[in-house]
Amino acid sequence: MTETATATVGPRDLAADDHRYLWHPFTQAEEWDSHDPLIVERAEGFHLVDTDGRRYLDGVSSIWCNVHGHGHPRITAAMKEQLDRVSHSTMLGLSHVPAIDLARRLVEITPGPLTRVFYSDSGSTAVEVALRTAFQYWRQRGQQQRNRFVTLAEAYHGDTMGSVSLGFSEPFHRGYGAITFEVFKFNPPWMCEPINEGSGEQAVVAGIETPALEAAGAESLAQLEKLLAEKGESVAAVVIEPLVQGAAGIWPQPPSFVRGVRELCDRYGTLMVCDEVATGFGRTGSMFAVEQAGVCPDIMCLAKGLTAGYLPLAVTLATEQVFDAFRGRYSDYKALFHGHTYGGNPLGCATALANLDVFDEENTVETGAARGRLMGELLAEHVAPLAHTAALRRVGTMAAFEILKDPDSGLRFATDERRAYRAVLEARKRGVIIRPLGDTMVLMPPPALPETLMRELVTATAESVAAATAG
Ligand SMILES: *Cc1c(COP(=O)(O)O)cnc(C)c1O
Repeated sequence: MTETATATVGPRDLAADDHRYLWHPFTQAEEWDSHDPLIVERAEGFHLVDTDGRRYLDGVSSIWCNVHGHGHPRITAAMKEQLDRVSHSTMLGLSHVPAIDLARRLVEITPGPLTRVFYSDSGSTAVEVALRTAFQYWRQRGQQQRNRFVTLAEAYHGDTMGSVSLGFSEPFHRGYGAITFEVFKFNPPWMCEPINEGSGEQAVVAGIETPALEAAGAESLAQLEKLLAEKGESVAAVVIEPLVQGAAGIWPQPPSFVRGVRELCDRYGTLMVCDEVATGFGRTGSMFAVEQAGVCPDIMCLAKGLTAGYLPLAVTLATEQVFDAFRGRYSDYKALFHGHTYGGNPLGCATALANLDVFDEENTVETGAARGRLMGELLAEHVAPLAHTAALRRVGTMAAFEILKDPDSGLRFATDERRAYRAVLEARKRGVIIRPLGDTMVLMPPPALPETLMRELVTATAESVAAATAG
């Protein structure tokens, strides 16, 4: 019998089949294959349940997505209702009811000048749409020379090639220069003096409202200003994750920084794009992060929490001024020739509408802000005093800290010791799902996580880190 034939007969062994057939994202197979995978079978509220019936607190919102818990009755009812009407129809040449209703709701709840909604299906595609829009906007305004983008160092904007170009990162994208385009980068506040203390590697943030962060924000803005003074005429847009860089490791910016970027974009006549794929929908303590800075970008990207973590859906919002540059006769070819097949999927739109209803009915933004403050207190109490933790930071219900061999000198553990990953496996034994980024531990529970579960999440994390860093 051939090997292939053997594999397809016999009892179903999910762990073996996973190891045999799957290719997991951002995952080294050698490490993955060394232990049995945790296989989720269902979810109950804020818990995931595996195939052995074990329950785990979802401490990462199923990667930044989940907002109100899994299986929220209001949301699943809306999904079922839409399922009986139509599951998918296209936005190309046709429209549909939930796409129209959702666009209107989004225009109502986002800052005033954003008036147009373009649908796609992931954070990456929402960013691609923003790139195409900004680039083409300037061509159609007769300023073809504005064809470059400015981004923050260590930015993350997704995994398609345009968004990879924006978030180019040396360890992950080594060798990709030939198929990415170059962007102008400036250092975000957390990489500037006095936050960074000049070490180049260790960043220490005392708190997000500290004078040090304000000062670092001012230095970061000075870098942006210098860049725009030199290259401004060639810049189509400045693209930022506002208020906090998520995937880089939850690195906060003071609101004054976001305001400053807006002012510089205005002064140098370029567009501001805010990627709120991670920060949107209550995760920073407000519905959208830009609200805390009191500014409005020209283009804004939303995904992840848009459907409360139930279905893939994304939008790119633009101002009327941007939209108007795309009007013309057909033969002018000024339309945005871009679209993703499942963009604006009706089930996704109906789910997003129910998500927004739950935000209204359950005051999720206020809950998330309060839960974030509790999270901050708990982290200060349980995680900060540990022997191997440093640089605790938090914005809303997004938090992170470093796991270091010697926090005083900033010495790291050897990369292959995988201390944070070991802490993740320890947490799993305690019924909690968390996820590392190298030796940075990241917690991003749903904004609506109940108080008792927030306590459980933080105390289990602290115990797990202590266990993984002992010896
Ligand atoms: C996750 C993320 C993306 C990419 O979203 P996908 O849905 O994974 O494509 C883009 N920008 C930011 C800020 C993100 O956090």
